[in-house]
Amino acid sequence: MRFVEPKVYMIGETKLDLGQTRLMLRALGGRTALEWMSRTSPNSRSEGELLTEIAGRICYKSFGVGLNPNVKKIRTSSKEYIQNTLSKGDGSIFEHASCTFAFIDVSRVFTHELVRHRVGVAISQESLRYVRPTDLALWIPPELAERKMEFKAIVERMEEDYKSLENDYDWDSMNFDEKKRVTSALRRIAPDGMATSIIWTANHRTIRHVITMRTAESAEVEIRYIFDKVARVMKRKFPLIYGDFQHTKLPDGTWSWRPKFVKA
Ligand SMILES: Cc1cc2nc3c(=O)[nH]c(=O)nc-3n(C[C@H](O)[C@H](O)[C@H](O)COP(=O)(O)OP(=O)(O)OC[C@H]3O[C@@H](n4cnc5c(N)ncnc54)[C@H](O)[C@@H]3O)c2cc1C
Repeated sequence: MRFVEPKVYMIGETKLDLGQTRLMLRALGGRTALEWMSRTSPNSRSEGELLTEIAGRICYKSFGVGLNPNVKKIRTSSKEYIQNTLSKGDGSIFEHASCTFAFIDVSRVFTHELVRHRVGVAISQESLRYVRPTDLALWIPPELAERKMEFKAIVERMEEDYKSLENDYDWDSMNFDEKKRVTSALRRIAPDGMATSIIWTANHRTIRHVITMRTAESAEVEIRYIFDKVARVMKRKFPLIYGDFQHTKLPDGTWSWRPKFVKA
């Protein structure tokens, strides 16, 4: 039996083809739109935020005054522009850019809760039908930290029982389909807390929503612990989209994040 820590890696994010983007802006709004790009792009912390702003500005052709006769002034600052969009609850522009996370050594308790979020996500989860565990690895939640050795002894007993059942099969003589069937049958004995891994891609609108729901005080401790890490990464990498999130420390040492603009 091994103790593990849940790990969060942001392994991917939306990138722009800047050459094509400039061509598009020239076709759409000539010199005015290109000048907007020249002013905005060097100051942008991420292409995800740049894409979000471009998607928003296309709606009213608000890359500069004169492109849309109905528009007499525009917000020139990206920060003001994104904040204003968030405050109005115009969330759809935050669906264009996504991030991909690898959550490693997380429990099935966590993954089961994560996959309840259906909108704007892509998921690939370790198959415990195919992958036969070599041992049981678990994270110990703070509530059981003082009973760590007791917890360990229980899991070791489970591991022994699992191994004795597993050893009844002659794995080397089984074909892959048979192995898969028995592996899947045996996993029913493994605990919900068993460490596994999942790749999760979500757009920024969804990430804002999931951070808010899953770091709430009433959320389960592991998902709150993990989405605190997600929130920190997002705030650092995408300060315009997540700038309105503030955190407070909860009695169990985890953090709860609330956005100023809840409906977006
Ligand atoms: C603290 C906490 C406790 C929970 N306890 C339980 C529990 O005891 N039992 C249980 O079963 N679940 C529980 N859940 C899960 C919860 O009910 C949701 O299923 C889960 O959080 C997914 O959130 P979501 O519905 O916002 O879905 P998402 O997929 O994240 O959707 C985002 C938003 O899109 C909209 N949307 C999504 N799907 C639809 C749809 N089909 N039709 C219309 N609008 C849609 C909604 O506005 C939704 O909020 C709990 C969640 C939390 C955070």
